[in-house]
Amino acid sequence: MTAHLDKLGRPLRNLRLSVTDRCNLRCLYCMPEEDYVWLPREDLLHFEEISTLVDIFTDLGVDKVRLTGGEPLIRRDLPTLVRLLAAKPAIRDLAITTNGILLGECAPALFEAGLHRVTVSLDTLRPDRFLALTRRRALPQVLAGIEAATRAGFSRLKIDTVVLRGTNDDELVDLIEYGKRVDAEVRFIEYMDVGGATHWSMDKVVSRREMLDHLTRHYGTVTPVREDSSAPADRFQLGDGTVFGIISSTTDPFCRSCDRSRLTADGMWYLCLYAKIGTDLRRALRAGASREEVKALIAPTWQRRDDRGAEQRLALAQRSPLAQSNDLRQNPHLEMHTRGG
Ligand code: SAM
Repeated sequence: MTAHLDKLGRPLRNLRLSVTDRCNLRCLYCMPEEDYVWLPREDLLHFEEISTLVDIFTDLGVDKVRLTGGEPLIRRDLPTLVRLLAAKPAIRDLAITTNGILLGECAPALFEAGLHRVTVSLDTLRPDRFLALTRRRALPQVLAGIEAATRAGFSRLKIDTVVLRGTNDDELVDLIEYGKRVDAEVRFIEYMDVGGATHWSMDKVVSRREMLDHLTRHYGTVTPVREDSSAPADRFQLGDGTVFGIISSTTDPFCRSCDRSRLTADGMWYLCLYAKIGTDLRRALRAGASREEVKALIAPTWQRRDDRGAEQRLALAQRSPLAQSNDLRQNPHLEMHTRGG
């Protein structure tokens, strides 16, 4: 099968599949509002429709699929979808990104259904901070979920932490130490000015440079891990062999190697986290388009792709949130929780 390359030579390989726009947390950097405009339920793709679209994407070169949301574990019967996807030999890597709250109850079924990898988002180890940041009292469930994932059989666990100045930037060491205890690789993410982050400002961003300086002061030498991959995280090693990652999407974006695209729970396909316009694959599918016809929507769109959203944001003289609350209410597809972070 020939790889489909975009205008910058990037292959169509990595599909982030949002299975719901709903979430059981209200993180201040992602869902700060009191209420939201949700996708109409009847628009949500059924599992069979998702499976059909994934087959089309794998025919076009996708071999990595990540389930996300919203919170993917609140999508009913998710293990059934996992089983459908895990049975596709073309998918080399099938992962999920979750806030972990429901992992305690779901981990065994997800493992048994064939899910390969789990990433848990966890920004703080302090219950009071967790409550202030996510507006839910759920830290014990998340920690229990992480342990349950390991018990269920998942290895290569990752923990993703968004670092916010003045909120959790004093917990980098604590999180790395926690990662060692639960055998998970911690990745620190720079706070991004994406849709939904209406409280974003540059002064709250802790850059990769600052994180590395902080960790070097504590641990001594921090060595870059040399690798050739399109993964967003730059990986580093401590003296004791512990590896951690930093995703510097705000101060040093990685658009040049970005092979990701995103399918929302209602079948809109986006080529960039910052893109304002997407392709409506649900409409095509429900209008009875054949697989070849849907492919003919996807392949040329990818081949025309020249998005460098994060790099363009970096080049702006004045940087502010991508969208204001009103724009987001008018167009919920701009939201990170709709698009699938
Ligand atoms: N609910 C799931 C979870 O918590 O992992 C999946 C969806 S969530 C939108 C995916 C990831 O996006 C999480 O790790 C979250 O922390 C991250 N995220 C959301 N808003 C962000 C922002 N403004 N900057 C950086 N990362 C963000």
